[in-house]
Amino acid sequence: MKLFDLGGRVALVTGGNGGIGLGMATGLAQAGAAIAVVGRNTQKGEAAAAQLRTLGVDSAFIAADVADHAACAAMVRDTVARFGRLDILINNAGINLGKRPEDYPVAEWHQIIDTNLSSAFYACQAAYPEMQTAGGGKIINIGSMTSLFGVSYAAVYAASKGGIVQLSKSLATAWAKDNIQVNAVLPGWIDTELTRRSRKRVETLHDSVLARTPAGRWGAPQDLAGVAVFLASAASDFVTGTAIPIDGGYSAQGL
Ligand code: NDP
Repeated sequence: MKLFDLGGRVALVTGGNGGIGLGMATGLAQAGAAIAVVGRNTQKGEAAAAQLRTLGVDSAFIAADVADHAACAAMVRDTVARFGRLDILINNAGINLGKRPEDYPVAEWHQIIDTNLSSAFYACQAAYPEMQTAGGGKIINIGSMTSLFGVSYAAVYAASKGGIVQLSKSLATAWAKDNIQVNAVLPGWIDTELTRRSRKRVETLHDSVLARTPAGRWGAPQDLAGVAVFLASAASDFVTGTAIPIDGGYSAQGL
């Protein structure tokens, strides 16, 4: 058995049409997995699937709004119908609306929690019977440094990302008997559309991330490819319920 080989495996990556999701999907495709790219934006989604096919694997875009329960069930159904199976689920789609906690309207609380946290639960519930029947599976949920730290202008986002870690641990313990491993990945500051928007809003952010990150740089989406392959492959068969920071040392540094 080749430890990191994903040949014959099928992965569903939410938000796989850009940023970190596409970085992880690229790693999985390079290891041989077929990829169902899920997102709302069809143009971005079709382009990502075409890019992944150039790596020699099958890939297709499946449109879904992951904040919607029925859409999560449908994206899993569509993936199995299109690719024949589902071995790897990456719950990566996420949003942030940064503001002071006292300023959030209740609708935005629900929007962020539903997109970042409820979606992962819905997708895991939908994927479970497929993985159980197949004799195992791999689930990777994307947290954040706010899974560990508080941020004054991201209280709702941090609540969703803290929830991702505890959800992952509970699913890991529940489904270990089914040979389904569930882990969280906690990215540090990664250069994507999401953080480009944040940098426009907070002028000092770019330099403060550089100063606060021991590696001395922002991460790139491809920095997440290795951990995705590890957690999706046989190399991690005895790894479950963990939350792995991929952050250039950000969370290791006290001051
Ligand atoms: P991007 O904004 O670049 O990508 C987010 C992706 O999620 C998009 O492709 C988007 O697709 C998809 N998405 C958002 N909402 C929905 C929805 N309701 N239904 C389906 N798809 C949706 O962000 P990142 O790549 O930076 O973020 C990816 C994940 O990583 C998020 O969970 C984020 O919180 C997390 N993260 C990011 C960090 C960073 O520094 N960048 C740090 C820590 C965590 P579409 O446009 O089609 O809706």
